[in-house]
Amino acid sequence: MIKLKCFVLCILAMHVANAQHTYTRTLKLMGSRFDITVVTETKEDGNAYIDLAINEITRIEKLISSWDTQSQTSQVNSNAGIEPIQVDPELFALIERAIGISKLTDGAFDITYAAMDKIWKFDGSMTEMPNESTIKASIAKVGYKNIVLNKESGTVFLTKKGMKIGFGAIGKGYAADKAKALLISKGVKAGIINASGDMNTWGTQISGEPWKVAITNPMDKSKVFALLPIKEEAVVTSGNYEKFVVFNGKRYTHIIDPRTGFPSSGIISATVFAPKAELADALATSVFVMGIEVGLDRINQLPKIECIIIDDKGRIYTSNNIKIDTP
Ligand code: ADP
Ligand code: MG
Repeated sequence: MIKLKCFVLCILAMHVANAQHTYTRTLKLMGSRFDITVVTETKEDGNAYIDLAINEITRIEKLISSWDTQSQTSQVNSNAGIEPIQVDPELFALIERAIGISKLTDGAFDITYAAMDKIWKFDGSMTEMPNESTIKASIAKVGYKNIVLNKESGTVFLTKKGMKIGFGAIGKGYAADKAKALLISKGVKAGIINASGDMNTWGTQISGEPWKVAITNPMDKSKVFALLPIKEEAVVTSGNYEKFVVFNGKRYTHIIDPRTGFPSSGIISATVFAPKAELADALATSVFVMGIEVGLDRINQLPKIECIIIDDKGRIYTSNNIKIDTP
């Protein structure tokens, strides 16, 4: 009897020791709202791990920011057409992968789109369409093929003067992947790095249920039309409904087709599921440029990658393996 009591007590004690809690902190990083969630045993642990994630994201922001004139990315940009710049292996590898995604998307995704930053503004300040010749002149400075990487010296060279790279479409995803990997390496069993709706998850909820992502229709944001489980993967939605301009009744988003110099239209939201947030982020942006048909076709060819597209009429399209179970 005593033995049994001890057994029960021991189990109880183990249970208490292993009680898990969910801790979340919300803050602005990389110009976006981040919600960082971890599942840990104590609040102290939760806070310490969230601090680690924040430091990691801040470190990456310093490396890839185009605003910070001191960042390595800005150094590369200000030396376009002048000379190659040596960068951290980490930035070099990110640029290499970005070029890989350009090849995968036939140039729809292109970090050199940034040269067009000056002519298209999506902060409400544009009053008229840029003229054809201005657009033509700036596309001349766009093209991932004009990024020269030298593995031996670890340098990056933008061959044309006025060329620029920018990580607006991949940076948040990359930072989320790095923060997640860091927390996993420290032993955090479950969590979510949520960068303004771009979710990167690992583990499960305390109940053992998978994390779930709510998909809304931008036409009616209050209505969730799908609640999908996500297991050890990332879900990224492109379609920042605040960032667009309307000319002659046509709505243009802040995602630019690097091949034409015009912002994309037709799609208002593209959600991509992928094992890594970086790829999901880049592909969500690419789908906008590729359009519904080509975008779906390309996604269907990629293993472990799915997408949901909503067009400007509110119609929903999904890749082959998406099963929507409406809540
Ligand atoms: P959101 O801001 O909605 O999360 P994205 O992840 O799709 O959207 O990123 C859009 C940003 O990507 C733009 O604001 C711009 O900085 C950059 N961008 C625009 N067009 C392209 C493109 N064709 N390839 C790569 N980056 C792009
Ligand atoms: Mg993106």
